[in-house]
Amino acid sequence: MFVESFKVESPNVKYGDQEIHSIYNYETTELVHESRNGSYAWIVKPKTVVYEFKTDTRVPKLGVMLVGWGGNNGSTLTAAVNPDEIVFGGWDISNLNLADSMTRAKVLDIDLQKQLRPYMESMAPLPGIYDPDFIAANQDSRANNVIKGTKSEQVQQIIKDIREFKEQNKVDKVVVLWTANTERFSNVMVGLNDTTENLLASLEKNEAEIAPSTLYAIACVMENIPFINGSPQNTFVPGLIDFAIRRNSLIGGDDFKSGQTKMKSVLVDFLVGAGIKPTSIVSYNHLGNNDGMNLSAPQTFRSKEISKSNVVDDMVASNGILYQPGEHPDHVIVIKYVPYVGDSKRAMDEYTSEIFMGGKSTIVLHNTCEDSLLAAPIILDLVLLAELSTRIQLKAEGEGKFHSFHPVATILSYLTKAPLVPPGTPVVNALSKQRAMLENILRACIGLAPENNMILEYK
Ligand code: NAD
Repeated sequence: MFVESFKVESPNVKYGDQEIHSIYNYETTELVHESRNGSYAWIVKPKTVVYEFKTDTRVPKLGVMLVGWGGNNGSTLTAAVNPDEIVFGGWDISNLNLADSMTRAKVLDIDLQKQLRPYMESMAPLPGIYDPDFIAANQDSRANNVIKGTKSEQVQQIIKDIREFKEQNKVDKVVVLWTANTERFSNVMVGLNDTTENLLASLEKNEAEIAPSTLYAIACVMENIPFINGSPQNTFVPGLIDFAIRRNSLIGGDDFKSGQTKMKSVLVDFLVGAGIKPTSIVSYNHLGNNDGMNLSAPQTFRSKEISKSNVVDDMVASNGILYQPGEHPDHVIVIKYVPYVGDSKRAMDEYTSEIFMGGKSTIVLHNTCEDSLLAAPIILDLVLLAELSTRIQLKAEGEGKFHSFHPVATILSYLTKAPLVPPGTPVVNALSKQRAMLENILRACIGLAPENNMILEYK
């Protein structure tokens, strides 16, 4: 049954004019190694912590500013979405208006493009921060719309752009999302970008190693605007994470989890959980869009390779019977640029696993799909979820004051390939766990218990 709107009736939930207040029993278990009668034993202790949640129910008029607005993802999303409550804008180092960007992308059907063109011609991206050292040299011919000046001046320009966008469009809130080209990893060095102070000092010194994506992120943290990174590079260097935590400004990423990796985070979780031991995972991709061209340079490919490689780590580590400590499947990622296929990405995966009695099982997958049609809805979900999460406050029993979620937004991890987590927090890649986390947090906000799938009423 599809329920369009509902209200929870419970002594633990109160609906006010502007917020929903809920009281929620957070049930977990504690595993302790205790001395009992002279020998140690593992003891499991159920634990309940009472939380309160407050969710502001006033939905703002939202401004979404995309870095890389004129790219395949940016133009496809803009073409596809026309809601009254969201205004799109953003930056691109290429000056094409959004109608021409849509034509360049060759993602949407030509008849649809003709119908959408009048709505998109007047949309033009603001000049972006361009640094040829960070993306592939083959992007140079595109860069005709760039912000001049020192890095500090560039950050000031981004801040000005956000303020003007907010003012001109009369939006209550802005979320910024990076869907621009994948950059190379920037070097992380003590004194350069390891702390807030060092990062901001490096900005003033115009240090070459601060990537454009980090400059946009600095501007957003300064303005307390949520910033989401949809590409794999390490935009969030330690100094930036530190800065975001200190300013309590939401950051989330990294890299949209759209196709091959999403499948991997389901399949490997299933295999390892079923006692089937993946020993070799080989993933090929070829694509012919501008993203593929940019990734054909070794340094930007390396960012993608890292982002795609770590996804099985937690699932492998979760089964100490299958894998010895430190043991890991061979895991290889190949990405090739084949212009002819355009945005239609081909992903081929081979999973070889050891099964019962030393047998082998090989699973092969082949997926053909328009890359940007996978990414665009994820962008929309990311910005909506980021905005919603800034309206939720919580406190555990004993905590004096309500606070927002940790500014490093793990709630977005269902949608990102290499989830960014606060320092010291375990990374969860398994898609079903990420989804359960998201769903159950939203249920907690309205005082409902987690979905437990026990169906006891039929037992
Ligand atoms: P694209 O090349 O079509 O678009 C990127 C746009 O960014 C271009 O228009 C480019 O001019 C612009 N740009 C580059 N550097 C910029 C800067 N510093 N400031 C402002 N604009 C800048 O690529 P796409 O297919 O739209 O993908 C965008 C990003 O999303 C890529 O990094 C890609 O790896 C990542 N991604 C895509 C998918 C997917 O399924 N499509 C999945 C995961 C990640």
